[in-house]
Amino acid sequence: MTSPLRSAREERQNVGLADLAFTDSLTGLGNSRRFHDKIERLIAQRADDPAPFAIAIIDLDGFKPINDHFGRRAGDEILVQVAMRLRASMDSHSSVARIGADEFAVLYPMVFSEDAALDRVNTLIEILSAPYDVGERMARLSASSGCALYSSSDESASVLINKAETALYHAKRAGRRRVLVYSGEIEAAAKYTTHVEQALRRAVAAGEVQAFFQPIVDLQTRNTIGLEALARWTDPDLGIVSPTIFIPIAEERGIIGALSQLILRKATEAARSWPQELFLSFNLSPSQLVDQNTGLHILSILEKTGFDPRRLEIEITETGLMTDPASAEKIINELRLCGIKISLDDFGTGQSSLGRLRDMRFDKIKIDRAFVSSILDDRPSEHIIKAILALCDGLGMEVVAEGIETEAQADKLIKFGCRGGQGYLFGKPVDADATLAYLRDAAFVARRAFAR
Ligand code: C2E
Ligand code: MG
Ligand code: MG
Repeated sequence: MTSPLRSAREERQNVGLADLAFTDSLTGLGNSRRFHDKIERLIAQRADDPAPFAIAIIDLDGFKPINDHFGRRAGDEILVQVAMRLRASMDSHSSVARIGADEFAVLYPMVFSEDAALDRVNTLIEILSAPYDVGERMARLSASSGCALYSSSDESASVLINKAETALYHAKRAGRRRVLVYSGEIEAAAKYTTHVEQALRRAVAAGEVQAFFQPIVDLQTRNTIGLEALARWTDPDLGIVSPTIFIPIAEERGIIGALSQLILRKATEAARSWPQELFLSFNLSPSQLVDQNTGLHILSILEKTGFDPRRLEIEITETGLMTDPASAEKIINELRLCGIKISLDDFGTGQSSLGRLRDMRFDKIKIDRAFVSSILDDRPSEHIIKAILALCDGLGMEVVAEGIETEAQADKLIKFGCRGGQGYLFGKPVDADATLAYLRDAAFVARRAFAR
C-alpha cells in the first residue's frame, strides 16, 4: 500500500508552479490563500443571486499532544490522513483547504441553511473521529468546527472567515467535538469577551483585582491548616465578574501572567501576618506551565514580599500538565527545589491519567467538588472518592476534598479517612481583612478551649 505521505507528494508533483503559492505543501490541498480566493470569487458570482452559502473551519482537538507523543513525522502523517478523509467527503460543489497547522476549511457553495451546514459538518467531525494508523499504533483525534453563512452582498471573504473563526473559538471553549454556526448570540458573546478583556487589562494595570481567601481545614479537628487564594474582580461597568469567566479570558488573551503576579503579590503580603504554621495555596493556569519565566516570577515575588516558599503550595490541574508535559515538569521541579509544594487541583474531572501520578510527584491531591457534592446519593462517587483516598495513601500524598457544604458530607469523608477539607461549610472566600479577623477568632476559640 502506498503511504498517505507518498501519495500526497505524488499529487504535489502534478501541481503547476503557478499553483504552488495556493497549495499546502504537506497535504496537497489548497492553502488559506486559495480558500480566501475561492470565497471572493463565489461572492462575486452571487452578487445578483440572493442564495447564501456556507463555510466551515475545522480545528483538530488536542493535536499538539499527539504530535509530541508520536513525533513530528507521525503528526504529519495524521494531517495527511485528515486531508484525505476530508477530500473524500466532498461533493462535486464543495472544496476543502488546509489553512493552519491543524486547521482545515470547507467551502459549501450549495449549502443554504444553518441546519444543512450543521448536518454536513457534524458528519465530517464523525469521520475525523475514527482512529488513525500511525505505524504500528493507532491515534484518536476529535475536531471542533465554527461555521458561517454568507448572507448579504456587503460581506467580504475576510469578514466571513472571521465569523467562522469566532464561532470556532466559542465551540472550542464549550468543549471538544462541538460545531457552532455564527449567530447574533455568538456575536454578543464575542463583544462581551472583548469588553471583559479590555476592562481586565486596565484593572490589572491599576492593581484592582483582589485576592480573597478560603480556609482549608483538618476535617477531624476543624482547625484551619491553610488558605487558598482566589482572584476576585468587580468592574465599574460589568459589576462582579466570576473568575470562571475572567481567568479563561486572561489566559487566552495573554493577561494571565500579569494577573497572576498581582494576585500572588497581594496574597503573600496578606499571608505574612497569618500564623506561621498556615500555608497559602495558589492556583496556576495551564498556560503558565508553558511559560518558562513562571518559576522566576513566582520566586522573585516571594523574595520581594519576604514570604517563606515552604509555606506556599501551588495548585495545578491535569490540563496544565497535558499541554506541554516537559515544560510543566521543568517549572514544577524548579519550584519544588525552593521548598514549594505542588497540589493537583480538581482531581478526577480532567483527562485523569494514573500514569501521570507515577511520572510526576505531587504533595497533595484535591478531590473535585463534583464527587463531593454527590457523595451522599451516588454510589459511583462514593467509590471513586474511596479509591482516590487509597491511592493517595499508597503514594504518600495528602488529600483535600473540595466543595464540602454539609455536615453529612464532612462526616462521610471523615469515615472514609479523608484528612483535609474545603468548602462553604467551613468558610466562603473572603477578603484579606475578614480573613485576618477570622483567624484571630479561631485562635481565640482555640486558646479558650486550651484554658478550659
Ligand atoms: P478552584 O481552584 O478549584 O477553586 C475552588 C472554587 O470552588 C472557587 O471558585 C471556590 O469559591 C469554589 N468553592 C469552594 N467551596 C465551595 C462550596 O462549598 N460550594 C461551591 N459551590 N463552590 C465552592 P471561584 O473562586 O469561583 O474560582 C473558580 C476557579 O477559578 C478556581 O477553581 C480556579 O481554577 C480559578 N481561579 C480562581 N482564582 C484564580 C487565580 O488567582 N489564578 C488562577 N490561575 N486561577 C484562579
Ligand atoms: Mg484551586
Ligand atoms: Mg479545585
